[in-house]
Amino acid sequence: MKQCEITLKPYGKNGTVSRMRVSMVLDGWGRSAGEELGRMQLSTVSIPGCDAEELRVSDEEGAVPLRTSFSSPYPYELKHWILERSLCGKTEISYFVSPRVLKPEDICGPYFDLRWEDGGINGAGLSFLMNIGEKERGRIRLCWDLSAMPAGSRGVCTFGEGTVEYEGSPEQLRQCYYAAGKLHSIEKGEFGFYWLTEPSFDMAAIAEYTRTLFEGMQKFFHDTDPVYRIFVRKDPFPTSGGTALRRSYMFGWNDTQPVSVTDKQNILAHEMVHNWPHLNDEPYGSTTWYSEGTAEYYSILLPLRLGLTDRETARKEIQKRTDAYYTNPTRQMENMEAARICWKDRRAQRIPYGRGLFFLANTDVKIRNATEGEKNLDDVVLAILEKAEKGAKLGNQVFLGTVQEISGLDLSEDWERMRTGGHIVPLQGSFDGLFDVREVPAEEADTGKKAVSYLWELKK
Ligand SMILES: [Zn+2]
Repeated sequence: MKQCEITLKPYGKNGTVSRMRVSMVLDGWGRSAGEELGRMQLSTVSIPGCDAEELRVSDEEGAVPLRTSFSSPYPYELKHWILERSLCGKTEISYFVSPRVLKPEDICGPYFDLRWEDGGINGAGLSFLMNIGEKERGRIRLCWDLSAMPAGSRGVCTFGEGTVEYEGSPEQLRQCYYAAGKLHSIEKGEFGFYWLTEPSFDMAAIAEYTRTLFEGMQKFFHDTDPVYRIFVRKDPFPTSGGTALRRSYMFGWNDTQPVSVTDKQNILAHEMVHNWPHLNDEPYGSTTWYSEGTAEYYSILLPLRLGLTDRETARKEIQKRTDAYYTNPTRQMENMEAARICWKDRRAQRIPYGRGLFFLANTDVKIRNATEGEKNLDDVVLAILEKAEKGAKLGNQVFLGTVQEISGLDLSEDWERMRTGGHIVPLQGSFDGLFDVREVPAEEADTGKKAVSYLWELKK
C-alpha cells in the first residue's frame, strides 16, 4: 500500500509565526517523467494561497529535476510541478510556506488562507498542502514538529490533536482546517472548539451552543461520525464571516462587530449545515444554489425545530434574506453567469443564497401539497445524502429526479426559472407553515429601481 507521511513545522518567535516547513515522505508513489508531481493552489476564489518556497524533491537517485507551469481553471490559480524524470523509490518533498500578508485594501473573504495570529497560525490545508493527486489512496499520517514554537504549543487539525493516521486519500488533509500555537480549546470527545486570540466575548457559550446544534443536526442528517472541530480566527477587518470544510468550519470575529450567541447563531448554523447536503459543483456555480440554499434553509429551521431559537428569530432571519434577495440588482442573472463574476461583484456572490433558499422553500410546499403532507423537502435532502454516501457524483438532475421519486412532481420548469434568475414568488405554507407572507413594494439596493419584495409575519 502507498504511504504518505506529512510533517508540519511552524516557526514561531515574538508572538508571530514567520513560516512553516512542510515535508512529505512518499512511499510507493511511482510516477513517470512528464507526469505531474503536485500542484499548489496559489489562489482560491480570490483568496491567496501559499507558494512552495525553497522546494526540494529527492528520491533514491538524488535530486529530482522538475519544471513548473501555471493554469487558472476558474476560480483557482494553480502552480504545477512536472517531473523531468521518473521517481525512484521513497520520495521526499519539502518546502516552506509563509502566512498571508494582509494589505490595507483586503476585505473579509472565505477563510482558506494561512494566517498568523497571536503567537500561532491557522488556515485551510488546501492553501498550504501540495496536492499530490486527489484520487490517490494509501496509508496517510500527519505529524507536527513543534520544536521551533514556544513551549506549550499545540497542533490540531479537523481530525484531532497531534499525530493523525488513517487509510484514505491525502486530499482529506487538504480539506481540513489547521491551527497551531498556544491554542485555547473546549473539547468533548471528538467535538472541539479552538482559538488563539483571547476573546472579548463568551466563547464557552458559543462552544456550548454549537455542540448542542451539532448533536441535533447530526441526528437530523442521519450521521454517526463523531468528528467535528470548529476553528476561530480574529480578523483585522471590520466584518467577519465563516467558511466550512469537511467536518469542520472556521468562523471569524473582529473588534468592531459584537459577538454573542444571538449575533452568531445563524452563521454558526449555516456553516455547520454545509457538512451534509451537497451536489457536485463542477463546473463551479452549477449547484451552489443547492449547497447555499440548503445551508440557509436549515440554518433557520433546524435551530428552531431543536428549540435553540424561537419563531420570531426565524421570522427575522427569513425577512433579512427576503429583503436582501428581492432588492439585489443582480438577482436576474443566470446561475453560471453569476458564478463567473461573483468574486468581482459581491452582490452576485449572494445570489445562490437567496435564490436557493426561496426555491427550496417553495419546493417544500409543493411536495407537501402533492403528497398530502406525507413528504417534504427533508425527504429529498436526506435521500440525496444517502445516494451521495454511495460515492456517486450527483448533479442537478439527481435533485430533480429525487423530487420526482418522492412526490411524483416534475419541477424542471420551476428549476429552469430559478436557474435563469426568474422571479420566485414565495408560497404560503413555506418554512414549516409558521408564517404568512404577502407582497410589498420595494426598491433595489444601489439603483433605487422599483422592485417587488415580501413581508413575513408570524401566523396568529
Ligand atoms: Zn455557505
